[in-house]
Amino acid sequence: KPMAEAGAVAVIGLGRFGGSLAVELAKHGVDVIGIDSDEAVVAEYSDKLAHVSRADATDEVVLRQLGIDDVSRVVIAIGSDLEASILVASRILKLGNRHIWAKAISETHAEILHQLGIRNVVRPENDMGRRLAHLIRGHISDFL
Ligand code: ATP
Repeated sequence: KPMAEAGAVAVIGLGRFGGSLAVELAKHGVDVIGIDSDEAVVAEYSDKLAHVSRADATDEVVLRQLGIDDVSRVVIAIGSDLEASILVASRILKLGNRHIWAKAISETHAEILHQLGIRNVVRPENDMGRRLAHLIRGHISDFL
């Protein structure tokens, strides 16, 4: 097991969401294990994260080889590939007893992840839109 560590956080999928999340965690001293199936993406993050691997995270053997079965916190940041998102979620849930966060890009996607048993499902655009509404309201009230 090359890089397993109890305090580490695995970030699966290093798109705009997973990538910025991973870098922010790393900046704060968190040991991040980044995984992406795209070689160019992996190259982009190789000097920003301690551990980055090019791998298909739907593969159970790969997850074990990367030491993900020893990591207690996992973020599934795959959006547009619904099948990959669901497969990875199922694999990680099978490992049992860990904190899982997953990104969804639609209501249906979020519902499926919830049904699988993932309690922390985030929808970045929707969540941010709601948040900005509150910020704008607060801003307006400053001038009333
Ligand atoms: P964002 O909005 O965060 O950029 P997105 O919703 O467009 O993301 P995707 O492009 O679906 O997200 O996925 C994010 C990343 O996940 C991509 O860099 C992609 O290469 C990676 N990814 C997709 N499938 C897999 C997989 N099976 N294993 C590992 N990484 C994967």
